[in-house]
This record gives sequence, C-alpha cells and structure tokens, in this order.
Amino acid sequence: MPFYWVGPWADPYFTLPVRTEWYLFLSLHLIILAFVLYRWRGDFLRLGGKGIFLLLGLVLAAALLSNACKFHPTSEDAVLVPARPDLPLLAGLPTLLAASLLGAGPATLVAFIGGMVRGLFESHLVLRPFEIAIFGLLVGFLIRQDYAGRLFSMLRQPIVASLLAALLAWTIFFWSFYVYAAGPFLSVFISSFAAALGYLPFILLEGLIAGLVVQALLSLFPRLRPVVGAQRTPPYGYSLNRHLLFFVAPLILAFILALFYVVNVRAMQVATAQTITQMARDAQNMAEERIPIFLLYGQATLQGLARSEDLQSESYEVRQDRLEKDGRSSAFFRQLFLLDNNLALLNIYPESPPEGLTLSSEEVASVVKMTGGEAASQRTPAYRLPTGDLVISFIERLEDEATGESRGILVGRAAMGEGNPTMRGILAGLQPATGGGLGFVVDERGYIIAHPDQRLLLSSWMAEGSRLSSSDSLPGEAYQHTDENGETRLIYHMPVLGQPWSVVIMVPYEVVMDLAVEISVPLLILLALMSLAVTALILLVISHLTRPLQTLAEASGQIAQGDLTAQVNVRGEDEVGRLGAAFEQMRVKLKESFEAIERERGRLKAILDSTTDAILVTDSQSHLILANPAAEHAFGIKAAEAVTRPLAQAIANEPLEQLFNRPAEDREALVEEIPLPDERILYASVATIADGDGQAIGRVAVMRDITALKELDAMKDEFVATVSHDLRSPLTFMHGYVTMIPAAGDLNEKQQEFVDRIIRGIHQMSELIDDLLDIGRIEAGVGIEMAPCKMSSLVGMVVAELSGRAEAKNLKLQLELPPTLPLIVGDGALIKRAVFNLVDNAIKYTPEGSVTVRVRERDSYLVVSVSDTGIGIAPADQIRLFEKFYRIKRRDTIRIKGTGLGLAIVKSIAERHNGKVWVESKLGEGSTFHLVLPKEQPERS
Ligand code: ADP
Repeated sequence: MPFYWVGPWADPYFTLPVRTEWYLFLSLHLIILAFVLYRWRGDFLRLGGKGIFLLLGLVLAAALLSNACKFHPTSEDAVLVPARPDLPLLAGLPTLLAASLLGAGPATLVAFIGGMVRGLFESHLVLRPFEIAIFGLLVGFLIRQDYAGRLFSMLRQPIVASLLAALLAWTIFFWSFYVYAAGPFLSVFISSFAAALGYLPFILLEGLIAGLVVQALLSLFPRLRPVVGAQRTPPYGYSLNRHLLFFVAPLILAFILALFYVVNVRAMQVATAQTITQMARDAQNMAEERIPIFLLYGQATLQGLARSEDLQSESYEVRQDRLEKDGRSSAFFRQLFLLDNNLALLNIYPESPPEGLTLSSEEVASVVKMTGGEAASQRTPAYRLPTGDLVISFIERLEDEATGESRGILVGRAAMGEGNPTMRGILAGLQPATGGGLGFVVDERGYIIAHPDQRLLLSSWMAEGSRLSSSDSLPGEAYQHTDENGETRLIYHMPVLGQPWSVVIMVPYEVVMDLAVEISVPLLILLALMSLAVTALILLVISHLTRPLQTLAEASGQIAQGDLTAQVNVRGEDEVGRLGAAFEQMRVKLKESFEAIERERGRLKAILDSTTDAILVTDSQSHLILANPAAEHAFGIKAAEAVTRPLAQAIANEPLEQLFNRPAEDREALVEEIPLPDERILYASVATIADGDGQAIGRVAVMRDITALKELDAMKDEFVATVSHDLRSPLTFMHGYVTMIPAAGDLNEKQQEFVDRIIRGIHQMSELIDDLLDIGRIEAGVGIEMAPCKMSSLVGMVVAELSGRAEAKNLKLQLELPPTLPLIVGDGALIKRAVFNLVDNAIKYTPEGSVTVRVRERDSYLVVSVSDTGIGIAPADQIRLFEKFYRIKRRDTIRIKGTGLGLAIVKSIAERHNGKVWVESKLGEGSTFHLVLPKEQPERS
C-alpha cells in the first residue's frame, strides 16, 4: 500500500451515484446536520473570540490532514469498491479535539469539512462529507455527555468514544458504496457490505490514532476535560424496562447483524463453489473427451488415408481420385496435400482451393521436422490462412508396407471454429448456461484458438487473479480476477487431457452474486422473521418481568404518600411474587395499625375535647403541641394557630409560663393558681412527661376552673370575719360568767362536769374565732413585723413543742437541718405558726410511723418540707385542701378535732411572705407538705 505525505490536491470533483436512493440518504444527512446545528447551537454561541480562532484552526487542520499522511489502497488490497477510500492517519484528530474542547456541534462541523476534502480529492463519493460529519457528531456526543455511572464515564474517554463512534459511523459508510453500484438490490447490498467490511479496519485505525492522541493530551492537562462530575441520570435510569432494553437491544442488533453477515458470507461461498463446480463440469467434458477426440480423430483419419495403396500409385488420376473420395467422405479436412519425398506437390484436394496451392510456413516447418526423423505424425499450431480462416494441419508419412520406407507426405488442413462442425460443438459446449459467461480454448503458446468472438482468435491469454482455494479437489484451477473496469470474474482453467491445450471458462461475478442471493434470500427472510419474533418475545418477557416490579414501585410510592388503600396485586411463587405478597401483607398490617392508632387518637381526642378541664401539652423545647377546646376557651387561643409555637408566644400568661418553666424534682407535680385576664382563676397542675427511658419529653398541664370556689371562699371570709368579731365579746363574756359559777356556790359533780364541758366548748369556740381572726389579720397584713430570723431555731422550737404529742402517739419525730442556713426575712411568729400547723397536722393524721421535718436552701428560697407516713390525701381533696373550713370527711378522721383553718392559715402566711405551699400525697402512704419562702422580702412602701 503506497504512502503519501501529501496527497494530490488537483482535480476536485464528485461523481454522482448511479442509484436514485442516494437522494433519500442525502436528505436524511441534511436533516441530521440541521438537527445537530440546532441542537448544539449553544456550542457555537458560547465560543467567544478565542473559541472561534480555535474552531477555524481545527477546520483548517481537518482539511489539511484529510489529504495528507495517508495510505492509498491499490487493487490488490481486496477492497472491491469502485472508489477506494484512503487511510489518512491523522484525519480524525481535529474532530476529536473539537469534540473535547468545543462541543458536539463544532466537532460535527470540523468533521464535515474534513469529509468534504476527502470526498472531493480522494474518493469523489458525494455522501462522504456527511458520513464523516456523523462520526464527528457521535464522538462529540459521547465525549460531552454527562450521564452518571461507570459505563458513561468510560464512554467519555476519548479513546473509547473515538473507537465506538468510528464503529457506529462505519455502519452508514456502507451506503456510500451501495449508491454507486448498479445491479439488483441484494447483490449490490451484499457486495457493498463486503466492501464496507474491508474498509472497517481502516476506519478503526483512524479512530484509534485520534483517540490515543487526545487521551494522552487530556491526561497531561486534566483541566481540559470537558465533563467533570457527571450527575445526570442516564436515559435508561428511569425504569427497569429501559435498563434491560438498553443492554439487550444492542446485543440483539449485534446478533442479528452477525447472523446476517454469516448467512451472506456462507451464501457467497456456496454460490462460488457451485459456480466453480458447474464451470469445472463444463470444462471437464470438453477437456477430457471432446477436444482429445477431435485431435485424435484428425490424426487417425489422416493415418487411415495415408495407409491407402492408391496414394502410392504412380498414376496422378488414381491418387487424385482417392484423395477426393476420402476428403469428401471424411468432411474433417478442408484441404489435403500429397507431397513426394522431395516435398514436391503431387496432388491436392480440392483441385483449386481458394487458399492457393502452397503450403503454409507452419506446415513446412512441421514437414521439415518430420523428414528430419521426428515422429511419423505431426500437427502444426493453429494459424491463419490468407483467407483469414483459422486452421491446424495434421501431417502423416506414407510408408512402404514391406520396407517401411517413406513414399511421400500427406498434409490435412482442418478448420478451427465455425468452419468445423466438431469444433463448433465443442465451443458451444464450453459456453456456460448461466448468462454473461464464456468459454474458449487456449493452445500451448497461450493463444486463443477457439472463441465465440472471432476477433479474439490468436490473441494471447494468461491466467491471472487470485487463486481460489475451493478448487483443490478439481482437475483445473479457479481464479477470481477484477479488471481495470472494476469487473470481477470467476475463471476456470483446465488443461486438455494428453494435449498441451487448455480450456478456460469465465463467469462474471454477478452470476455468483445472483446465485448467492437466491440461496440467502429465503434464509434472510427467515432470519428477519425470527429476529422480529425473538425481539418481540424479549420485549414481552422484559415487560412481563418488570411489570410486577413496576406495580410494586407504584404501590410503594402510594404507601410513601400515605395512601394505604390500593391493593398490591403481584402474584406468583417466584422471588418477585413473594416480594409482592410480603408487600401486600405489610400494607395490610400497616393499614390495620394505622387504623388502630387512628381509632385510639379519635378516642383520645374525643376525651380531650369533651373534658371541661383545660389541658395543655408542651414538648421538650417548650413548644405547645396540644391544647384542648377547654384550654382554647380559657386562654382565648386557636389550637390550630398556637400549636407548634413556643408556649410563651402561643399563650400570653406569665404565671402559666413560669409554672411550665419551674424546675420540677423527679416526678413531682407542680401546682399553681393561674389568674386569667377575665378574672377567672384556674387551678393548674403541671407534670413532666417521661418516655420509656425516663427521659423528659415534655410537660402536661391540667387546669380546673376554681373561680366559683374562690368566690365562695371570699364570701365565707367576709361572713366569718363579721360573725367572729361579733361572737368574740359575748364569748369572753360567757367565759367570764361560767368561770365565776363555782364561786357562786358549790356545785355537785354533774354540775361541775357540765360547767367543764361548757368551758371546753367556749375554748374551742374561742380557738376557732382566734384562728379566724388570725386569718383575717394575716390576710389584711395587720401587725406583721418583717425581720431577719433563724429558720433553724423556729423549726427547732416547733419540734420541741410537739415532741411530747408525737411521743404520746408513739411517732418518731425527726428534724433534718443542713449544717448552715442563711437568715430569712419574715415575721418569725407567723413562720413558726405555719410550720407548727403543718407538723401538728402531720402528727394528727399519722396513726403510726414517723414525721420528718426537712429544711433546705433552694436558690433564693428556703424550703420546709414536712413528710409523714400517715393516711394521705386523695387527689380530688388536694385541690381544696387549703380552703378555709375544708376538712376531709372520712370515717377514720371523724374523731380528730380541728377547725379546718390550719392549712388556710399556712397558705395565708406563705402568701403574705411571697411564698407558696403545696402538697404531694398518696392516699394511704403519707403526705409531704412543702412550704417555700423567699430569703429576702421586697422593700415595702
Ligand atoms: P384541721 O384543723 O381539721 O386539721 P386543717 O386545715 O389543718 O384543718 O386541715 C384540713 C384537712 O386536711 C384536715 O381535715 C385533714 O383531713 C387534712 N390533713 C391536713 N394535714 C394532713 C396530713 N398531714 N395528713 C392527712 N391529712 C391531712
């Protein structure tokens, strides 16, 4: 294959294709080109000054490199097409660079220009520029695509992209060959296919070189890489169906193409072999029988003539008579000459032949050979007579029977070709039955001596072309030869048996092609039908396989959106079927539990909605997460708006906020009265909500409206204050007189007892009235003296005073004091009174066990806690415990005397000191009363 550094630049032209289909291909190419320019117009718009320069440079490079540095295949290179495309080694490089640096649009343009040069100066094929442009388009697309995944990242590599694009583009190069060849569709199709196949390695090599160079460039300068961090979902990534199709379709296609190719190649082989066999049969018949017989016949006939006595006679007439009789009867020789030993002409038949009466130079040469002592029978090569007829001459010696001496020479001229009926039959037998072929005979000199075309007679012929291996088992040899006009022929050449001649039969390649088409068409139709069936089947199987998965995906999407009603309908025992069944089970279970939760929620909501207690719930970040209608009503809020907001923003109520924010110990509930703007008062109890691990996850407040109770309390206060005041003087008065009764005279025992009872009653009453008045005084703040006092000594005094009573009940009275305690500002007497009441109650309501008094310091407060192991207080009673006159009516406490004012006094004292008192208690287990007092009191005006 010759190599050019620079190709010829002269004579640019296109030859127009012979097939009209090329208009179709041209329009298709134009549409593709227009689409590319439109689709990737952004590539051009983005170029900028530098980019335009680069593009122009690459276009120029493409034009130059397309006609430089190239191999040029010759006819021996087995490329069967009329125009043999060259192999410019570097032509793909500018295209690949344009694809990497500028985009698919510029790559297509650069490739198109390169193709233009190749079309005009090299192959002159009109479709060439478009086909090369498609290579540019493909390589540009592959290098610039930004699909995610390893496959696409590999396809982005210039070397892979270039090879793949070359391979894909090759499939359309084929049409370029196709449109230039005349003939029946299928035979042209097959020959174009074979031609394209021969061209494939060239294209791949071109792609490989360009790919290698650009690959190296990009690894040296990674900054030039066109796509970094591809993210786009690949086209097959959206459904399993597409995924399978994406990988199966090319496989099917490749498989069909391979089958197609194999069928065609095999058909060609079979057709060639069949044609050669037929040619061989024709040739063999002639070469082994008819031609040898023809020659032997000529020789034998002349020999028979020569043996005749009459020819040796002295009489001219006798000899002439004999010659004419035999010549006429044999009809093989058109002329006979009888010579004597001195080569003088004795007789001649017919008497005056148009060719004249002289021997030809060939005959003379043979006669001389014979007289020189060579074999008794001679034959001249074929030669032309002056009349133009082709003849061969047989020569025999006349021998004396007795002595064997030579008596003369007999020469017989036999016509070749038309003039000879035997030769005519042979020539007819050599002509192949299939149209377009021809057969002829070649003699020992390589001259054609029998040919249907008279003009070619005596022209020389030589076997040429490539020998076909299929001819091994045949007596002759088969060749395939393509002449300068691009016509290919099969040639069969066979030597004639026992003679130096040979027969040649030629058949045009179209005959083979037609036969191949005849063989392959039914197979191809079958193949096409089967491929269709297989494709349809695969599509069906794929969709059958993926349909249940699709159903599952849809169902899971619905479930994810919260719709649990749609049934998952995937049947079967295979993996997908089991998955579907499990899915359906899961859905049903989920639906059931959701419904159960929903029911539970509904019930809870109904309870919360219908309860008259206001309920608020916050999460661990103090955001409101629930407010029932009672709470909405109490605080004048809308739950829908307030929920999820921080409590402080959702409800403008400072005491409530403080209550929620107050630290709580363990599980202790915090209680507080919450005044509302509309003067109502709620009794709130706040508890911490803990999860399974004991972790606090929020707080809940239950609030009861106690306004009515409060009002009642106030009315009671007023009433009692009035009454107690009014009762006090008559009571003092009564006490005076009763104590004076014994002084008025002796009393008997009964009388004394009555008087004592009256005095006890009066005492009790004055105690009650004292208590009442105390409360009134405390609430009114009369005579209260705030001064620093020592809590430990106040509590100590109470414990000391009450220890006797505790001992009497067999109770353990304990006092727990921290080592140091700060002073507290307050009215010492009142604080002592409050502690006294608490400890007194604890002893009173504790049948057995112990009473513990604890004092602690907590921030700016002192906390006095009185715990007992007594009878405890029910939650319902705890709310009202600190009301005046509230006494719990129980059978076991009926005998315990009390006014029901003790805790009310404690509460009044606590409030007076800006402190608080509350109880934690469990029925039957004991109670703890907490009295919290601030260490400092605000300055009073
Ligand atoms: P009383 O003078 O009746 O004791 P209080 O106001 O002191 O009046 O107490 C009110 C009610 O609280 C009592 O009737 C009693 O039932 C209940 N109570 C007070 N302290 C205790 C306690 N430590 N254990 C059980 N119940 C108590």
